[in-house]
Amino acid sequence: MKEKFIVAIDGQSGCGKSSTAKAIAAELGYIYIDTGAMYRATTLYLLKNDTDIYNEQALENALKQISLTFRNSKGGSEQEIYLNGVSVEKDIRQQFVSDKVSEVSAIPRVRRQMVGLQRALGNAGGVVMDGRDIGTVVFPNADVKIFMKADLDIRAKRRLKELEENNIPAVLEEVEKNLAARDKIDSARLDSPLKKADDAIEIDTSQLSFDEQVNKILDLIKSKQVA
Ligand code: C5P
Repeated sequence: MKEKFIVAIDGQSGCGKSSTAKAIAAELGYIYIDTGAMYRATTLYLLKNDTDIYNEQALENALKQISLTFRNSKGGSEQEIYLNGVSVEKDIRQQFVSDKVSEVSAIPRVRRQMVGLQRALGNAGGVVMDGRDIGTVVFPNADVKIFMKADLDIRAKRRLKELEENNIPAVLEEVEKNLAARDKIDSARLDSPLKKADDAIEIDTSQLSFDEQVNKILDLIKSKQVA
């Protein structure tokens, strides 16, 4: 039985990938890598430093200054992303980052840097990684590939609740608009667009409770482990 699976979870913005992936990793004793956080932290750096992202040299110089690491928090049950040694877990969820992250993520040079790091973090297996291109580009040979989706209005309400729980002010219409805009850019970009891998299993979470979606994926993983 292969124990250290690579589990890839891709899908639309706000359909519950991160919380689901986190719960699955905890249940299996795997590490969880939030690749969206990596793109967000990179975007935060570029915005804070007024980088002209369409100037090749400026972008190159800025990317060389970025060091991203994950550290355990809350006694190991959570992971926080650090940008150059400073936790940015909360800053990267702010609306000004959400508004720009898909534009930054469409740039091939940015993706190259992130994908290199993601492969290094996940190669040994025992990992649940969520994003947009994990099953298609980062780990095309992942042991389990899930593609999650949900209706836009349901995703917006869930995301709003999550932001409120983290004391980040937000308005439902804005959140919904941002999710739709990001899906559009993420699906239309030329480099690593958001799309279901041919061999991914699609799960529509619109009508599923959190426990249902987690259990569904855990069952799938377990059935593959004994196969
Ligand atoms: O997962 P999250 O919604 O935090 O991701 C933020 C953005 O980062 C996405 O909208 C997308 O533009 C980008 N992203 C990506 N590839 C990934 C993960 C995230 O392009 N693997």
